[in-house]
Parts: sequence; structure tokens; C-alpha cells
Amino acid sequence: MPTPQAMQPATSPAAFTHALPSYLNPEHLGPWGIYLQQVDRVTPYLGSLARWVDTLKRPKRTLIVDVPIHLDNGTVAHFEGYRVQHNTSRGPGKGGVRFHQDVTLSEVMALSAWMSIKNAAVNVPYGGAKGGIRVDPRQLSKGELERVTRRYTSEIGIIIGPTKDIPAPDVNTNEQVMAWMMDTYSMNEGSTSTGVVTGKPVDLGGSLGRREATGRGVFTVGVEAAKHTGMDISTARVAVQGFGNVGGVAAKLFAAAGARVVAVQDHGGTLYREAGLDVAALLAHVAQHGSVAGFAQAEVIDNDAFWDVPCDILIPAALEQQITQANAGRIQAKMVIEGANGPTTPEADDILHDRGILVLPDVIANAGGVTVSYFEWVQDFSSFFWSEDEINARLVKIMQDAFAAVWQVADANKVSLRTATFIVACKRILHARDLRGLYP
Ligand code: GLU
Repeated sequence: MPTPQAMQPATSPAAFTHALPSYLNPEHLGPWGIYLQQVDRVTPYLGSLARWVDTLKRPKRTLIVDVPIHLDNGTVAHFEGYRVQHNTSRGPGKGGVRFHQDVTLSEVMALSAWMSIKNAAVNVPYGGAKGGIRVDPRQLSKGELERVTRRYTSEIGIIIGPTKDIPAPDVNTNEQVMAWMMDTYSMNEGSTSTGVVTGKPVDLGGSLGRREATGRGVFTVGVEAAKHTGMDISTARVAVQGFGNVGGVAAKLFAAAGARVVAVQDHGGTLYREAGLDVAALLAHVAQHGSVAGFAQAEVIDNDAFWDVPCDILIPAALEQQITQANAGRIQAKMVIEGANGPTTPEADDILHDRGILVLPDVIANAGGVTVSYFEWVQDFSSFFWSEDEINARLVKIMQDAFAAVWQVADANKVSLRTATFIVACKRILHARDLRGLYP
């Protein structure tokens, strides 16, 4: 048991500290503890804004909801749901909703905080938020999934809204789930409110290019980093973990640029092909069968052997804490592009850094999704929709500019790209905090 003293955040004036709830404890293992360590690393670079840093170390608002539904077999099941608004200094909360059997409050808190950092890093006018339900959606029928989604939306309806907090897709949620969320919120409000969620179907106020946006952003920062490091994308070997909306699209774009996608891992297993996988055929296989399992034109390798695969670019695009102390020493890549949120632990970050492997951190690398979510929200408010070319061009420009600014800060301060992104983002958030002042 840590002593109450050990549980106090290092930066709080001693006179005002109290024992923190365990989930705010910096020594608490898990995603929130990792996020707190990342904030600690950046605090020395914040100058006078460091006086506000505790703002970043606790979420502004945390809602835990019970989500009861009728199952198809006539019984009633209860699921636990969350919506965490980490920060709203720069604008409404913004961030996805995930459905996963392992979702915890600590995870949703960390994901909401990473949204604050990400949104500030690409300078979209949002704070950060995230939601989730601890449920395995693969165990639910379509009707059960709809009922879970609608009841959850009703429960969090007291804190979301187009100017308050705008959910979006994340792990295991998609355009259909967003359509149900939009409809439920609109029914409760008594008027159709398309801007309450992003990532909707295009026919319901969704944006062209949104589905591919996160993968396109991953590819864009990869190309920019390659320019800085002298890597030739057209001859690069790429390994991808997660072959969904992020990894699948990134793999397609890297393959189109001439790269060889040599390894792919998802929940169905791990595939390897030195000559490069046929990405289009693999995407079609996954669309039909739900995972890479059973794809014939590749060698099946051990899941753990994925980390030893000879490659130039590694793209973790699945869940958190995949690159750890245990496997960071084995990674062959010269560059890691974090498509997922939080895939690298701080210890692994240090190992990769010491080995000269460049990490393009989640908080900039996967910001393409929320950037096009911002475009979607703007289009919904103006009821005027842009062409896909215009959206992609604006997305690429935002990602390039944000990446260039982060690269420059990393270079000037001799810090990692993750710390540099946190410096840029935390300064923006805390500057807004400072300007607004405290109420009352
Ligand atoms: N879930 C995505 C993310 O982690 C997108 C969030 C959004 O579009 O609001 O960045």
C-alpha cells in the first residue's frame, strides 16, 4: 500500500494535498499511470505554465453508467459504461467510444487525456474526451448491439452534445454505431442533431474521407519522417499490427507507395511474406472472414515472432501496451508509427530511443481521424459538404504542418517526438487555461 504521502502528486503545494483516489495515483499501473509519467517528463519544459500542470493530471469530468439491456434470450444483462471529459479548456470534449471486454476506467481516462494532447497537437479547437463500454461486441447480436448503444447514449446524454462533447468511432465501433448514437440523442432532444457525433455514414451528415483518415494520417507522418531521416518509402519493408480501419488503410497506402508489407498481425494470427503481402487481397479476405486467419498466400508465424520480423517500419495499430520492456529490444524496425493509442510503454519508449529507433507517437501519428472528425463537425454546422479531394488535401496539410512543428521542437530541445508533441500540446492547453482563469 503506498503511503498517503507517496500518493501526492509531486507538483502540488504540500499545504493543499490530500490522499488521492487510487486511480489518480501516479504509481497506479496501467494506461493512466503511463499518461501521468508522460506529463511528468514534459513539466520541466512548460515554463511558467507549469503552475497549471495539475489540471492535466485529473480529468475534468468522469461519468460511470450502468447499461442494462434485454438480451435476445429474454434475460437482462448489465454492462458498465464510461464517458470521461479530460479537458475542455480549448473547446468541447472530443474523442471516440470503444466497445471492448477489457475496457476499464483507467484506460478511458488515459485515452481521454491523449485526446486532449492530440487535439491540441494538431490545433483543432477541442478539448479531450473518451468513452467506452466493457462489453465484447462479438458476443452480441445486431439487435443487442443496437440496444447497448442506444441505452449508453441515453445515459451519457446528460454530458454530450454538439457544443459540449462529441463522440466518434474507436475500437469496435463504426458508422452504424454512430448512426444509432446520433438518432438516440436526436430523439431525446426532439430534433435531428447531426453534429453530436462524427464518423457517421455519409448519408447522415458524415464526411467523405473520414473512414480512411486515421490511416492516411499515419501514412502522411511516415512519409514526412522518412524525408527527415533519408528513408526511401518505395523500398521500405512494413509490419502492421491490427488490420482494421487504421492498420488496413495505412498498409494499403504504404503498399501503393511501393513499400512491401511483409507482416500483418490481428486477433486471428500473424502472417509473414518476405516478398510482400498482397494487401488488396488481404483486405478483401478480412472483409469477408473478419480476420487475417485462413489467408492462403502467406506463411503463418507465431504471434510472438511478429516482434522479430525484419522490417524498416513497424505500425502498431491495435491496442495499448503492445511494445513493452519484454519485446522492445527485439524490434528490427528503424521507425515505429503508432497508429493505436498508447501502444508503447514508457520503459519500451526508452529502450527504442536508446537503440536509435524513431517513434512517431500516437498523439500526432494517429491524429488524422480526429482531424477529419473536425471537418465533419464543421460541415454539419454549415450544412455544406466538401469534396473528398478537398478533405484529403486539408488533412495532409494539417498533418504535415503539425509534424514539422513537433520535429522542430524535438530538435531544438533534444527530446523524443513524444515529449516534443506533449510540449507543443500542453503549452496550448495550459495557455488557454491561463487565459480563461479560474471560475469563480
Ligand atoms: N477514436 C479516434 C482517436 O482515437 C478518433 C476520435 C474522434 O474522431 O473524435 O483519435
